[in-house]
Amino acid sequence: MSSRQAVKVIETEPQLIEIPFEKVCRYLGLGKTAPEAQLQEQILKSIDNFKKEVSYKACFREVLCRGTSSGTDLELFFASGERLKKALSGCDKAIIFAATTGLAAEMSRRRAAVNSPLQALLLDAVGTTAIESFCDKLCTQWKEEYEGYFLRPRFSPGYGDLPIEIQAKLLDSLEATNHAGISLTESYLMIPQKSVTAIVGLGEDGCRQKEPDCSLCDKTDCQFRLQ
Ligand code: SF4
Repeated sequence: MSSRQAVKVIETEPQLIEIPFEKVCRYLGLGKTAPEAQLQEQILKSIDNFKKEVSYKACFREVLCRGTSSGTDLELFFASGERLKKALSGCDKAIIFAATTGLAAEMSRRRAAVNSPLQALLLDAVGTTAIESFCDKLCTQWKEEYEGYFLRPRFSPGYGDLPIEIQAKLLDSLEATNHAGISLTESYLMIPQKSVTAIVGLGEDGCRQKEPDCSLCDKTDCQFRLQ
């Protein structure tokens, strides 16, 4: 009998996912410069509009993982490359997941693009912030569920030397089209676009930050650092 873990699905209410204004500004390339009043209002309105359309959904499963001479055996597929292998060193299992903000939010952004490139740009930044926050929420939940384990930072296909082609295997392993409505184009673009797939190692040691974001973290000597 197979000991493989089943795919699980998580749906999260929009009001439980924070979309911080500052992070949206960061994705808009504003840095720490406060936007002028009119733009500020437009950003806040875009956040409100997005919340009306978004539908957060994720599917995930636990897999065994093992480093080999050329990459990482993830039970359901093999991932070549050294970076993921290093990121998962010391982990005997990992979570693979796919998460999305849903098709309605995507369609809303596409409609906006027809009449207002600015509105589409704002919704794009809001969507990026939202999917990242949703992934953070999922990881916080797993942190609590996997007692005794520490999570490694999320590692996505296309990052470092992990081939983007792994995206297809990862989504197939999760039956992500059925479970979360995520599909893949021939050029490996996920639809809805504001979707994320990733591998999260579970180890006896790992990231201990409450809100892990290696790009903002000042622990420059961290052995688990991704960037
Ligand atoms: S660099 Fe910071 S956020 Fe990244 S894994 Fe290390 S402790 Fe966690």
